[in-house]
Amino acid sequence: MSTPTMRAYVLTGPRQGSVQEVPAPVAAPGEVVVDVERVGVCGTDVEFFTGEMAYLHQGHAAYPMRLGHEWAGTVTAIGPGVDPAWVGRHVTGDTMLGDQVCRRCRKGQQHVCEDRQELGIRGGRPGALAEQLAVPAWSLHALPESVGAVLGALVEPGGNALRAAQAADLEPGERVLVTGPGTIGLLVAMFARAAGAEVHLLGRSDRSLAFARGLGFEHTWTEDELPALPFDAVVEASNAVHLPARALDLVEPAGRVVYIGLAGSPSTIDTRTLALKDVTAVGILSASPGLPDTIAAYASGAVDPRPLVAATVGLDQVGSVLAGARPQGAGPGPKVHIDPRLV
Ligand SMILES: [Zn+2]
Repeated sequence: MSTPTMRAYVLTGPRQGSVQEVPAPVAAPGEVVVDVERVGVCGTDVEFFTGEMAYLHQGHAAYPMRLGHEWAGTVTAIGPGVDPAWVGRHVTGDTMLGDQVCRRCRKGQQHVCEDRQELGIRGGRPGALAEQLAVPAWSLHALPESVGAVLGALVEPGGNALRAAQAADLEPGERVLVTGPGTIGLLVAMFARAAGAEVHLLGRSDRSLAFARGLGFEHTWTEDELPALPFDAVVEASNAVHLPARALDLVEPAGRVVYIGLAGSPSTIDTRTLALKDVTAVGILSASPGLPDTIAAYASGAVDPRPLVAATVGLDQVGSVLAGARPQGAGPGPKVHIDPRLV
């Protein structure tokens, strides 16, 4: 009997990838197999495509790679020891897969486990840009009926953004500046707005700021235009090297600065400013602790990020999307989704 195969996007080197027939995953003990319905392409995937991603140079990742960590699908098979109730459930899952035994994992901080795998990112764990995906059952999050595949694949970036918005600790009526109106920045803005904050967005291009205004964010600025307003919090969600320090300059004394953006080279801040302004600074990595609240916010309609999706295409277009091409007919949003069932 021949081994069942499936289609998957395989990245074999910098700017080299293709859709290949690969062995279909088999559910190992404690794991499930998911039929993938929707996958988001994100900046991390692009960094792997270009070869710039730090993990490639630190030994945490190596080609060939199977990308994809923002996903939704349906459980179709379970391995030994998995609750059969998962079969047929619509799910998404945690990108961060800690070893579940170390001190950090036992403290509930498996997203910073030293020995963690990251789905489609780190430790050789194949990602979701494929027809099927195998993941540990413990990493699953069931999606309610009101959270379909599009929203389901936006839970992972949403969880990052929700944690950043929560770290900004906003009271209703407080003013927050979000720097970098990409997917994460716009999601942060949405969660902050849902918390009752007055949201301002700082961006580089008129196109991204116009899109933000279309989402109802009226306070959008370029760096030259930014008014001298007191910002109770600043969430730095860009990839600009200079903006982490600018965020600290812009925030009100006793305010909060949240760092979720990553630049391609080190950004520095002056800790004297941090101390003398009595500012609280927080770094955010991963969605993990924010996944349940994100699903709840999508389910209730408090936050609806679906307008961020510009286009949905098949696996055959992953390479061109990673190379920066906009799919034909794409809308103005920053996110491209892949539906592996499209041919
Ligand atoms: Zn661990």
